[in-house]
Amino acid sequence: MAAGSLDYPKILLFDIDGTLIESGGAGGGALHQALQRAFGIQSPRPVALHGRTDRGILHDLLLSHGLAADKKNLERLKAHYFELLPHCLRERPGRVLPGVVELLARLAACRDVICGVLTGNMARSAQMKLDHFGLSHFFHFGIYGDLAIERNELAAPTRQCIDRLVIERSSAPRQRPVSDAGSLCHANVVVIGDTPMDVALARALNARCLAVCTGAFDRTQLQGATRIVPDLHDVDEIESFLLSPVQEKCR
Ligand SMILES: [Mg+2]
Repeated sequence: MAAGSLDYPKILLFDIDGTLIESGGAGGGALHQALQRAFGIQSPRPVALHGRTDRGILHDLLLSHGLAADKKNLERLKAHYFELLPHCLRERPGRVLPGVVELLARLAACRDVICGVLTGNMARSAQMKLDHFGLSHFFHFGIYGDLAIERNELAAPTRQCIDRLVIERSSAPRQRPVSDAGSLCHANVVVIGDTPMDVALARALNARCLAVCTGAFDRTQLQGATRIVPDLHDVDEIESFLLSPVQEKCR
């Protein structure tokens, strides 16, 4: 079935943690172990993780332990994190969240639908998580947390990515960047995520947002999303929302 409107493809941008998977704390665990191994810090202090970019988290972790957030320290911390994350993913009781595999399989069969990840994870750790849970093959591209300290700063590279995809995949002559044409972006781009930061990023893109309550935030905290669902288990309903012509206005 052709899903995009006005001959533009439908672009679906999925967050990873709390939306597609629950890692059982593997990411946070690997970060703390990396801090211990890289800098000998025995009892790392926690920093906020949910919805943030890894770049921002690493930056704050270094500063909160009295370390300079410079390139050398960041690279050192990242190297240990990438080494530890696969072990932590294997050791922790993670899972793919309800409905995710069936939904992604259905979307993969739709013409003019392009699924990507829009995540605070760095590209390498995102790949590790998707590989571990057997989801990598569903995604054609990604916008990752390497690019920004604040999640909303991912809006600019996401717009560039949308424009590039439209040039590559659209059957319509391109009059102007689709991300500049608010109504087209609203009709054709959906952000799927579990945090208020995902909702804010969708608004910054003038995209629709499907918020799921499978992470650390409830329906009240996710207000502002176009649609809020408990999880992705009702695949018929979710698919219909993601692919239907726009009937709901962003609030
Ligand atoms: Mg998330």
